[in-house]
Amino acid sequence: MPLPSSQIVSDLIALIGGNAVIGEPERMGLYLNEPRKRFHTKAAAIALPGSVGEVQAIMRWANENEVAVIPQGGNTGLVGAQVPLRGDEIILSLAKLDRIRAVDTAAGTMTAEAGVILENAHKAVEAEGTIFPLWLGSQGSARIGGLLSSNAGGVNVLAYGNARELTMGVEAVLADGRLYQGLNSLKKDNTGYDLKNLLVGAEGTLGIITAATLKIYPKPEDFETALVNIASPDVGLKLFEAMRERIGARLNAFEIVPALGLELQLRHGFLDRNPSAGPSPWYALIEVSRMKGGPEGTLLAAIETAFAEGMIDNAVMAESLADRTHMWAFREQMSEVQSKEGASIKHDVSVPIAAIPQLIAEGVTAAERLFPGIRPVPFGHMGDGNIHFNFSQPVGADGKAFMAEADEKLHEVIYEIVLRLGGSVSAEHGIGQLKVDLLKQVKDPVALSMMGAIKAALDPKGILNPGKMLG
Ligand SMILES: Cc1cc2nc3c(=O)[nH]c(=O)nc-3n(C[C@H](O)[C@H](O)[C@H](O)COP(=O)(O)OP(=O)(O)OC[C@H]3O[C@@H](n4cnc5c(N)ncnc54)[C@H](O)[C@@H]3O)c2cc1C
Repeated sequence: MPLPSSQIVSDLIALIGGNAVIGEPERMGLYLNEPRKRFHTKAAAIALPGSVGEVQAIMRWANENEVAVIPQGGNTGLVGAQVPLRGDEIILSLAKLDRIRAVDTAAGTMTAEAGVILENAHKAVEAEGTIFPLWLGSQGSARIGGLLSSNAGGVNVLAYGNARELTMGVEAVLADGRLYQGLNSLKKDNTGYDLKNLLVGAEGTLGIITAATLKIYPKPEDFETALVNIASPDVGLKLFEAMRERIGARLNAFEIVPALGLELQLRHGFLDRNPSAGPSPWYALIEVSRMKGGPEGTLLAAIETAFAEGMIDNAVMAESLADRTHMWAFREQMSEVQSKEGASIKHDVSVPIAAIPQLIAEGVTAAERLFPGIRPVPFGHMGDGNIHFNFSQPVGADGKAFMAEADEKLHEVIYEIVLRLGGSVSAEHGIGQLKVDLLKQVKDPVALSMMGAIKAALDPKGILNPGKMLG
């Protein structure tokens, strides 16, 4: 018999105290309303434990009583993984576990609790002359546990890797309340399965991360940033290859945005001035880091060579921190500005880097043929092969009617191209609730059965984030 909500709330209060439990639906908005505004529902309660011991106590109780638990960090996930599916689950927010336990510059590590907000992690290590290079648009709200559980990417993956590559060890509470003590910072440890990498990217379905040992790096002395006019994604690819060849590992970011992205941001007042060198069908935002004592002007020299070779004909270099911030705002506001243009249909996909021009060309052609007037806005992390293949509704169209007509059809078309090109239907946002059916259709059946076996072994009663990822 499932426990009634009132019993769930009173049991939780007995475990962690009344101030750490929210039982009134009208106080739950912060935890239920997510950025996509697609998955509104209700929860039995919100629990905000203040220690690892309290997380363990909640899990022991939840396992015994078969109460479903959704771990939550900053609630910024884009696939509905952090919010309820049914309404009888509890949300276990890690927000109160927000201590930086240690920064070890010699080892190049930071140990942070799951509830640390990414921006605070940045500040803590920057004070020590180092960086934690996971940078993304939601860094003011996203928390370490959520970032790791969704294996977040962001704008520095090219140089430093995604959350998985930045994690050395995790501490996690399992479904039955046991504590997995995996906070190691060893570069070499060949003692069995890679349990850390099961928990990272598991979207809260295998355990609750309570802390992690993360890699930190020496802080670059400076950055060189440029916004380059490019004629097409094809030119973007050639330019990317040229930059990688000339700059190597210090090439931090290579992002592309179409002209429509700039037009929309200027139209809606997201930018107070045009950050580009002039009109162009596409723009590439390129950033290079300069370490202490390293050569200056590397990016400028590489861009001048590209000019001389006729690959590009216009570009602007950031000349101040304000310029750099402005260029990055242009890139990072892309998702948000689309909401000002009515309904939009989004795909977070990746393909081998060399296939990006083909993905964009085929996707745009197919979408325009199916829905004349549709406005393609594919943008993103070209250097990682990850494009946010978004479409805005035709000007003046009815948003709801557009979504009803185009959502499914466009998904089919874009995912078919992505899979044919050897890509992934979820590059960095995950599966959550949004792509459960899709995953079943496209993932190798053997991989799915291995994932199911792991889930059954670690969470036999299926109480951790049920219905997400594996369904
Ligand atoms: C404006 C904006 C820009 C974004 N840009 C990017 C981007 O560039 N790259 C990118 O990859 N993502 C991006 N995202 C998506 C989002 O920020 C990331 O998915 C982030 O990693 C989620 O962190 P969170 O703390 O908000 O986690 P939540 O949304 O709270 O949770 C995400 C998942 O992690 C699980 N979880 C949370 N905490 C724990 C824990 N302690 N233990 C176990 N499971 C847990 C949840 O159950 C859920 O499955 C963006 C989102 C927004 C709103």
